[in-house]
Amino acid sequence: MRTLFFIIILILPVSIYSQSALEKGLYSINKPDAEKYIGILASDSLEGRKAGAAGGLMASEYLKNIFQEAGIVSWFDTYFQSFEYEYRKSVKMRNVLGCIRGRHADEVVIIGAHYDHLGIKKNSPNDSIYNGADDNASGVSAVLQIAKAFKESGEQPLRTVIFALWDGEEMGLLGSSFFVKDYYNSVPVFPLMSAPVIKGYINCDMIGRNKSESDATHVVSYFSPERPEFGEWLKDDIEKYGLNLAPEFRSMDKVPGGSDHMPFQQKGVPVIFYNTDLHPDYHKLTDHADRINYDKVVDITKAAYLNLWNMANLKNF
Ligand SMILES: [Zn+2]
Repeated sequence: MRTLFFIIILILPVSIYSQSALEKGLYSINKPDAEKYIGILASDSLEGRKAGAAGGLMASEYLKNIFQEAGIVSWFDTYFQSFEYEYRKSVKMRNVLGCIRGRHADEVVIIGAHYDHLGIKKNSPNDSIYNGADDNASGVSAVLQIAKAFKESGEQPLRTVIFALWDGEEMGLLGSSFFVKDYYNSVPVFPLMSAPVIKGYINCDMIGRNKSESDATHVVSYFSPERPEFGEWLKDDIEKYGLNLAPEFRSMDKVPGGSDHMPFQQKGVPVIFYNTDLHPDYHKLTDHADRINYDKVVDITKAAYLNLWNMANLKNF
């Protein structure tokens, strides 16, 4: 009896303080980083991050630097995937794409968020900048923190993970559509080798607001109906890690306005999409950083990280 008691005392502290790789990453996700990323992206100096405009270019440069400093390598030869779109005149845009190579090079999983927004409003003398703090600096902050958390875990994932920051979403999902089209059209290097299979995609678009002030835990989780385990993962992780979220599971065909998961979904890729619903500041000049619920952004970021960890590492996924 006494021996057993001593053994328990000796083992207990070790098990409390030894974190798994997954937990090391999870606990690196934090509120000050969410505040910093959203604050900078939604600042007036980035002029509403309009695709093809100076503010959008500045934003993409800032995002590239964060990937680089965190040791996230580029998916292509450079971090930028440039493309043009005929929008009366031709507009040049660019996605920002980082990755962590997995042990199995033939499978990839992707998490993405669009960084572009609506730019500057003409003839608006007081406030003229569409800051887009919720839409979608909030989602971008999640992708950046998750990329850093995967690094922080110290473990190489089973599958390659791509961290995608899309341009041109507000003009009609242009960045994500270009990526998907290019991906499936790309000519294989060797005749018998095709591009790695995209096993899953997670989208974060507008994850920072309360539906009403009395409902601070509300988040909508959309996921592919043929993958019911996505809903179970979220429920289990909320319980296990004490996330302060009350998810509403909504059918994929009820997505308001569409977002960057759609081009993936059309190719049959299993998807998860997080969103905290429309609000009175949606696509208004008043979508400001001081209206964000940062605790909620952090908990949704953690939920998406845990989902992505499963997609990247579960053998039978
Ligand atoms: Zn929008």
